[in-house]
Amino acid sequence: MFVSENLSVNEKNHLVIGKNDTVELAEKFGTPLYVLDEDLFRKNCRIYKEAIEKYYDGNGLVLYANKALCCMHTCKVVAEEGLGADVVSGGELYTAIKAGFPMDKIYFHGNNKTPDEIDLAVKSGVSHIVVDNVYELDKVNAAAEKYGTVQPIMFRIKPGIDAHTHNFVRTGQIDSKFGVALENGEAFDIVKRAMEYKNVTVDGVHCHIGSQIFDIEPFCLAAEVMMRFIGEVKSKLGLEVKKLNLGGGYGIRYTENDDPIEYGEYIKHVSDVVKKAAAENNVDVPFILMEPGRSIVAPAGITLYTVGGIKDIKNVRKYVSVDGGMCDNPRYILYGSDYTAVAANHASDKYEEVVTVAGKCCESGDLILENKLMQKLEVGDTLAVLATGAYNYSMASNYNRIPRPPIVAVSNGEAKVIVKRETYDDLIANDVP
Ligand SMILES: *Cc1c(COP(=O)(O)O)cnc(C)c1O
Repeated sequence: MFVSENLSVNEKNHLVIGKNDTVELAEKFGTPLYVLDEDLFRKNCRIYKEAIEKYYDGNGLVLYANKALCCMHTCKVVAEEGLGADVVSGGELYTAIKAGFPMDKIYFHGNNKTPDEIDLAVKSGVSHIVVDNVYELDKVNAAAEKYGTVQPIMFRIKPGIDAHTHNFVRTGQIDSKFGVALENGEAFDIVKRAMEYKNVTVDGVHCHIGSQIFDIEPFCLAAEVMMRFIGEVKSKLGLEVKKLNLGGGYGIRYTENDDPIEYGEYIKHVSDVVKKAAAENNVDVPFILMEPGRSIVAPAGITLYTVGGIKDIKNVRKYVSVDGGMCDNPRYILYGSDYTAVAANHASDKYEEVVTVAGKCCESGDLILENKLMQKLEVGDTLAVLATGAYNYSMASNYNRIPRPPIVAVSNGEAKVIVKRETYDDLIANDVP
């Protein structure tokens, strides 16, 4: 019935997540409220980890992509599950450091890391820096020299794969701000250049072709192209690149129209491609890395709102407003994203009325659902928007000076706050009157 496996309805007709009644959660913690099912989050970590063990002899590491959802508690959970993690900014890195995340499992990404961020990464001893361009290569080498170390690096490569997804989340094609391209020789040149540097070692290559991808094909194609490049680097430069990082981007079910492939299947297919390509290109089978973010955490999260004003504009449409919006979920205004929602306090009622669920921000485009079939919503209802675990809290803002909602983690019937609700005092904390 629901897009996520962890949801059900109890005898009160209330939506239940991880054995917690969502209406009670809304009453106890207030709305808007992010709820994270920690058990499902952990289960999804294990699916990837076990698939690498099963299909790739454990010769790899799953990195959780922190940008999907990053706070100290998620860092702790990911570390407990034995995954590594990628970070894309000094802030994410700092969070991981403070959470005690093992630095030898941290990969640092980004297309324009600042000198301060590079300094912090090298100083903290991150496992790898994924270098985006020549400017960064020089900075990383200089920072490593300053600290008297040799920093393992990977290069972010554009394999020239055009994954079929939203324009803003496609990254593998040549016209992208991320990385160096294969087809014009940029990638080859930067590897060659790095080999002359004393304080970096080229340990791997990385690609990430986009996000919310449902086909196996582009991942297999990317793996094949990257393996060919590893072969070229070996034959022409005599350098054996040992690690292949294939990024993230595995699609999830936001609505019934989405049909994600089982994640183990991706890994099985990609493993076969990589092993075969290693033989063809006369190189060793590389250590493999993957970086799922959305597919680990999105299905584990929901957002609870309270329904406020309802505006039935005759012959136009019916607006149902909630107490959050683009400030806690900017994905509709950014990408026109589609979601599934449930009236949490009468969860199994039938879907009978087309409505538009609007947020409370001062933008007409601030919508959560547009012209979607919903259950009949009344003032005071609790509305649950599903699969909001990724790119909601992490993209939230204080637009209109609206405090960010808290995150409550639920596990086996217990609920605990892992990020506190912002207060008005938090909002003015950095103001200098
Ligand atoms: C965004 C990103 C990911 C995670 O993508 P998902 O779609 O959340 O799986 C992984 N690696 C890199 C480099 C990214 O930029």
